[in-house]
Amino acid sequence: MAEKKFVYMFTEADDTMKNLVGGKGAGLSGMTKLGLPIPQGFTVTTEACTYYYKNNEKLSEGIIQEIDSAMIKLEGITGKKFGNPSNPLLVSVRSGARVSMPGMMDTILNLGLNDEVVAGLAETTGNPRFAYDSYRRFIQMFSDVVMGLAKSRFEEIIDEMKEERHIEQDIDFTAEDFREMIVRFKEFYKKELKQEFPTDPKEQLFGAINAVFRSWENPRANYYRKINNIPAEWGTAVNVQSMVYGNMGNTSGTGVAFTRNPATGEKKLYGEYLINAQGEDVVAGIRTPSEISELEKVMPEAYRQFVDVANKLESHFKNMQDIEFTIENGKLYLLQTRNGKRTAHAALRIAVEMFEEGMVTKEQALMLVQPEQLDNLLHPQFDPAAIKAAKIIGEGLPASPGAATGQVVFNVEEALSLVGKGKKVVLVRLETSPEDIEGMHVSEGFLTARGGMTSHAAVVARGMGKCCVSGCKGVKIDEAKGYFELGGQTFHAGDWISLDGSTGAVYGEKIPTIPASISGNFEKFMSWADEYRKLKVRANADTPKDAKQARDFGAEGIGLCRTEHMFFEADRIKAMREMIVAETKEQREAALAKLLPMQRSDFEQLFTAMGDFPVTIRYLDPPLHEFLPTSAEDIKEIADELGISVEKLNGIIADLHEFNPMMGHRGCRLAVSYPELAVMQTRAVIEAYINVKKNNPKYQAAPEIMIPLICDEKELKFVKDIVIKTADQILAENNVEANYLVGTMIEIPRAAVRANYIAQDADFFSFGTNDLTQMTYGFSRDDAGAFLSHYYEKRIFESDPFARLDQDGVGSLVKLACDLGRSVKPNLKLGVCGEHGGEPSSIEFFNKVGLDYVSCSPFRVPIARLAAAQAAIRSQKK
Ligand code: PEP
Ligand code: MG
Repeated sequence: MAEKKFVYMFTEADDTMKNLVGGKGAGLSGMTKLGLPIPQGFTVTTEACTYYYKNNEKLSEGIIQEIDSAMIKLEGITGKKFGNPSNPLLVSVRSGARVSMPGMMDTILNLGLNDEVVAGLAETTGNPRFAYDSYRRFIQMFSDVVMGLAKSRFEEIIDEMKEERHIEQDIDFTAEDFREMIVRFKEFYKKELKQEFPTDPKEQLFGAINAVFRSWENPRANYYRKINNIPAEWGTAVNVQSMVYGNMGNTSGTGVAFTRNPATGEKKLYGEYLINAQGEDVVAGIRTPSEISELEKVMPEAYRQFVDVANKLESHFKNMQDIEFTIENGKLYLLQTRNGKRTAHAALRIAVEMFEEGMVTKEQALMLVQPEQLDNLLHPQFDPAAIKAAKIIGEGLPASPGAATGQVVFNVEEALSLVGKGKKVVLVRLETSPEDIEGMHVSEGFLTARGGMTSHAAVVARGMGKCCVSGCKGVKIDEAKGYFELGGQTFHAGDWISLDGSTGAVYGEKIPTIPASISGNFEKFMSWADEYRKLKVRANADTPKDAKQARDFGAEGIGLCRTEHMFFEADRIKAMREMIVAETKEQREAALAKLLPMQRSDFEQLFTAMGDFPVTIRYLDPPLHEFLPTSAEDIKEIADELGISVEKLNGIIADLHEFNPMMGHRGCRLAVSYPELAVMQTRAVIEAYINVKKNNPKYQAAPEIMIPLICDEKELKFVKDIVIKTADQILAENNVEANYLVGTMIEIPRAAVRANYIAQDADFFSFGTNDLTQMTYGFSRDDAGAFLSHYYEKRIFESDPFARLDQDGVGSLVKLACDLGRSVKPNLKLGVCGEHGGEPSSIEFFNKVGLDYVSCSPFRVPIARLAAAQAAIRSQKK
């Protein structure tokens, strides 16, 4: 068997080999194939990186030999020699993962210089200033990246020298100054590291390659991977590329340009360059770069060539490109091309225009926008300049995206009072509960100390389209005393904070936001997505307002109405609590009689808001700890209402206390204990249906009644019989015919395993993957957030199974239940309504197993529509 190859010359790879040679390597090889001017080089593969980590962070002998021989080939191609003062080959060493991770890993330029080589370089180029400038840069970068001596320490020496010479800019240093700087840099290096700066170019090269591999695990890169779901096992490649020099004088320069504007999507070159500079100067902000269009005046020939190349690259890669270039003595070289990062706004415009220009097909255009990105179009955003300047004081889970800035409040009263005065507030709580709902409603966002991605705060936030950072690490909240501490600062009610719900970052200051805007491209693009997707997209909506929002975002029905959520409001929760603490059937029926009209009128409004689209009503499923009264005032009020003493009510509440309410008396178990619950809810659904039909005889939809938390077919049958008996009786009394459905949720592993039996009594299945994940892993939804971070740190998990479906475990149960269910009922309607229904990688899985629909919170509906289209397009290709 041929030995595995770990090193590829740019001439040997191509742009389809991203997984092996990384994005940068693939781009450079692809550009080489297109005949573009690329300084040649080679790539050490991502597999070498994986091997490096397996091999105790060491390169193997075989890889070292491959690199040695690639260097010899590179010497042959360039006609220069590594370490030879009379004709020196210098190289850059840069990272390049499969997907670009801008600024996350490290780069070293001008490698191969030492005291002899620099003298030779000065002589052969006749440009000593350039040679010594390159050397000092190299020492700085090598010391930082390979040896961990912060660049800023060298900047201090540079600043000292500027002061001594009364100059302001690097560009004013002479060759002599740089020579002096090099002496000082090396002295500093020796003093700090107790060793000489390495003079052997080979030692420099291997030091740099090792350092780039190491940088794959630096905290920045780890964080970036986590928020972008990039697996650690991918590894990075290393690119070793012969240097070209933008710092050779006024006919040289370097720059970065996008083929279209990455902020707006406008079709116009967008970028910057600096004359007489090297790569990092443009990003480092040492000098202010000029706009790319200026280059036309300074170097018209190089500019014309660049425009030409930019067009070629964009048509070749069929995507907006982000290109790095260098001009050496008037000659243009390309150092990198990659698909450019862009705002959601730009992404839509680029996709739509590229299709209209005929550059891409509709399928290709649909793949140009990441579904998650659409989210930014639906929520207010931070002002980009302000967020850059702001300081992060803490981090939590990015539980619900958006930008929130407001004054701290710790409870509903404070929230309502400040909002009443026209202020914006952010609710800070240990964790939220249904009591907080009104306060949540008026807040810009929520920060909680506890809870995960499916905690109360997170679910409610996503439903409301509000920003939420949950499970914030290191925050100390004293709700009673009204302050919290984070990042070494103390905040009281009324102080300003800001939250970024897309990253989980917390800022201790006011940051201006700009409102979301939806352009015409958005609508057009979404209509294309709808042409391709097979999955229907419904919404999880509990109120008419949510339902309307969901329709506006293109939902094709409601896949989950959590009926217990209909009682969150202050005037309603009392009746719900009375029902929960009722001791006798009479008390319970009295409470249910109060709930009935509220439910009926809500259902009427939901049915009306959804037109002829289906509405799935999930019967009561209140985890008791979310609904039991806790405050003395509430307890007194309910005791009075029930005509019992506070002591007695406290005793009832104590009896109802559950050690694990998520596995307690909830879901269909309540209706098993108290059938009158199912009777009341069926009455509300069917009477609402009859009323809607009366007002609109053409009303077509069939109500879908959904029984939650089933573990056994007999349990389902018990509740279903009550539903049917009640429904049919009411319909008969009213002389109305209705084709209502009774289905169930698959949320308990036993239900998935028994799905062929359960399907016999179910018109549909809807997978409740929140509970199914909880029960499959045995991780409590409310508590897992606190310890899952240890699982990420230790690489046991790469992502939160409550956010991204665990396809291997929970997914296998979903698939099993689909197969078993359809084995007895081939047309069994299948959907999902857990949080995963709005998550793109999970949607791809649901598409693959052949569900009919996904249901997600209203603000995720556009994301789900696009993810479903992309899943369908990908599956066609396979
Ligand atoms: C679920 O368990 O996935 C579900 C949708 O129900 P809930 O989140 O209300 O338990
Ligand atoms: Mg559930």
